[in-house]
Amino acid sequence: MRYKIIAGNWKMNTTPKEGVDLVTEVLELIKSTDLTGTKIVFGTPFVSLLAVAESVGNTPGVYVASQNISSYDGGAYTGETSANMISACGAKMAIIGHSERREYFHETNAILATKADKAIGSDLTPIYCCGEVLADRKNDSYQTVIQSQIEEGLFHLSAEDFANVVIAYEPVWAIGTGETASPEQAQAVHAFIRNLVKSKYGAEIAENVSILYGGSMKPTNAKELIGMPDIDGGLIGGASLKAADFVGIINAI
Ligand code: PEP
Repeated sequence: MRYKIIAGNWKMNTTPKEGVDLVTEVLELIKSTDLTGTKIVFGTPFVSLLAVAESVGNTPGVYVASQNISSYDGGAYTGETSANMISACGAKMAIIGHSERREYFHETNAILATKADKAIGSDLTPIYCCGEVLADRKNDSYQTVIQSQIEEGLFHLSAEDFANVVIAYEPVWAIGTGETASPEQAQAVHAFIRNLVKSKYGAEIAENVSILYGGSMKPTNAKELIGMPDIDGGLIGGASLKAADFVGIINAI
């Protein structure tokens, strides 16, 4: 089923206690909101997963995600956190391939393909990020870049596994910059991505995949963006750190 999803990516912010306080505030503010057909996701640092998942408990429609996972299953990989460990903390999703992981930690599409497998193997829904840098947009190669990110990172999956994937389109030039893709620019890329999925997996899977927009989404621009036919929600950085702003975006659905 194609859900509307509002996912926060807290990045390297919040201690476990601050995370629990933030979630408690958000849950209080949305306690009367009808979340049918919607998923709210908190993408927390690894060290907060357990505490935040305990705070969320079984709240319907609310989930916890990691911001990364290891491409290894376990063993002598100092500093890594496996999909299995993340799942055991109570997370149900994992953000994979965020542009900051691609840029600062050199994660390639091939590495991300393995991470997608690891996530699915541990019952974590991958939120797979793709998106072009400003130069790709300016020289009009952004569709080719996005197509490779999706094909090389995800298209090895079986149809059954792909049906569990969420895609986030995040133009890198709009992340944390205050610059947002226009609803029309974002819609064009979302439709392009949905079409890629359709060519590979068929119309039904393409209709059901949730494709989120990320890049300076705020309460003031969320309604217009999420109102576009192929934009199914948002992956939100900065504005997910303030309960009122995050809830403002949730209320824009
Ligand atoms: C992000 O990092 O995924 C993001 C979209 O950040 P921001 O909302 O701050 O642009």
